[in-house]
Amino acid sequence: MSTPFKVLAELCEKLEATKSRLLMLDLAAKFLNALEAQEIEPAVSMILGRPFQKWSPYNLGVSWATVSGMIRRITGVEWKTFAEVFSKTGDVGSATKIILESSRVRRQTALLENALTILEVRRSFEEIAETTGYGSRERKERLIEVLLGQASPIEAKYLVRIFIAGVRTGFHEGLMEQAVAKAFQIPLKVVQESSMTAGDIGEIAVMARTEGLKGLSKIGFRVFRPVNLMLAQMAANVTEALREHDGRTAFEYKYDGVRVQIHKLDDKVKVFSRRLVDVTESLPEIIEISRKNIMAKEAILEGEIIAVDDLDHPIPFQHLMRRFKKIHAMEDNVQRIPLKLYLFDILYVSGKSLVSVPYPQRRQLLTENAGKIQLTSQIVTSEVEKAEDFLKEAMDAGHEGLMAKRLDSLYTPGTRGKVWLKIKPVLEPLDLVIVAAEYGYGRRHGWLSDYYLAARDADTGEFLPVGKTFKGLTDAEIIEMTEKLKESAIEDEHGKVTVTPRIVVEVAYNEIQKSPKYKCGMALRFARITRIRDDKVPEDADTIQKVREIYEQQFLRKGRYKS
Ligand code: AMP
Repeated sequence: MSTPFKVLAELCEKLEATKSRLLMLDLAAKFLNALEAQEIEPAVSMILGRPFQKWSPYNLGVSWATVSGMIRRITGVEWKTFAEVFSKTGDVGSATKIILESSRVRRQTALLENALTILEVRRSFEEIAETTGYGSRERKERLIEVLLGQASPIEAKYLVRIFIAGVRTGFHEGLMEQAVAKAFQIPLKVVQESSMTAGDIGEIAVMARTEGLKGLSKIGFRVFRPVNLMLAQMAANVTEALREHDGRTAFEYKYDGVRVQIHKLDDKVKVFSRRLVDVTESLPEIIEISRKNIMAKEAILEGEIIAVDDLDHPIPFQHLMRRFKKIHAMEDNVQRIPLKLYLFDILYVSGKSLVSVPYPQRRQLLTENAGKIQLTSQIVTSEVEKAEDFLKEAMDAGHEGLMAKRLDSLYTPGTRGKVWLKIKPVLEPLDLVIVAAEYGYGRRHGWLSDYYLAARDADTGEFLPVGKTFKGLTDAEIIEMTEKLKESAIEDEHGKVTVTPRIVVEVAYNEIQKSPKYKCGMALRFARITRIRDDKVPEDADTIQKVREIYEQQFLRKGRYKS
């Protein structure tokens, strides 16, 4: 018998309402236990707020504008009412539920006889994801309308959350691992480790049911199933990295691009992104050079792709990102941005996992298998001066900094340890003024937690936004900030409160990008507040002219993309 989607929605509702971890695990484990094997992976993914498995190439490609438009169309409510409910709940799913419950529009009948099942919902998601190309927007809308039309308010709540990816439910992956362990009586450590290796807890849950402990204990790497990435912690400088790594370490250039995991078997190559999404189609030339160069018949390698100019100099990150946006028919004619791949690790070769092989041997194997593909520039040293010179060399060549890799280190999928350290000299922080703020989501709803940051135009005195951030402040600071901003509010519209420029904050960021979004034409990338500058008044804030100066300085090191 197929399990109705409603049972899943009701479970999510209960999980959200309870604070007891034990009870949550109990509920989830019972639910998983009652499912048919083929329902397990879709259910696990959906409870975690995802339409598909973590590394699925499928993408719903549905925007908030489309979904909210659809809800208004189905229910006939006006934008204003919708926005009000939305700002009260702070969550798109809950707002949808409330609106559907209160709307008097007669919805499709026979909800009861025709209950949506978990598998039907998954099939609809697949259909939506497969709808691409000319006229796909209308067809997608139609499919969403049909799906939402069949859903009860509580079902719609969770469907909408899944549509608008990124809305987190409280039940995260760690808890899901515990629930799977409990449901199928497998030691938690085994579930955690195999989930790390497989890269997706949904698939592990299915195996736990169908193959039990024996199956999970055997799980290893498989080509075309992405591996969770090893991550790095930050080090302030090369001295700290050398100290941390006991005096001698490998330094590599840190390239500011996109991390890729390349899987090869015979002539077939697939590439996965940092988030383990299949991006093979966006990167034909990377596939081509991998196919031509990688010696091993079967291998998993890692590298970083950067965008370059004619002279192979790195160009700003934003140009690279364009490659991953949806490929529209029109864009095929546009000149492709040249890419360059640098390999830095090898995790698997010809049936053998290399995660327990120390870094120097992996690097050796990488050299042997990379063909003509360049490896990341690397030195091994115990000397501060040599490391500092190497850092300068990396920065002068337009790269982001260095990675320090411990010599005896193994590859630990999914962990952010100290055996890899990143050293990134940052751009100088800016003192900026908050000119508007938006209410947050979830726990932060009711708090003004997303801030528009502006620099002063020295010529006109106007404050011009250069970025937006919700990062850096503690809860207590956000609450206090909310009070202060409300006191100086000038306008409050659609959850955005415009204020008189009064509060100065110190802001760190990684890069200044060209951006049409703001009047000044520039935007800070990865802005985060590092301090509230109560000691400063807006007239002390940094100027737009200074922002422009830093923006220009970046290009003294980086190449330029002629667009
Ligand atoms: P972060 O994203 O700031 O945590 O820095 C780690 C990221 O740096 C990795 O995920 C890679 O995408 C990137 N990276 C650039 N160069 C290297 C390198 N030589 N070794 C490892 N990662 C690198």
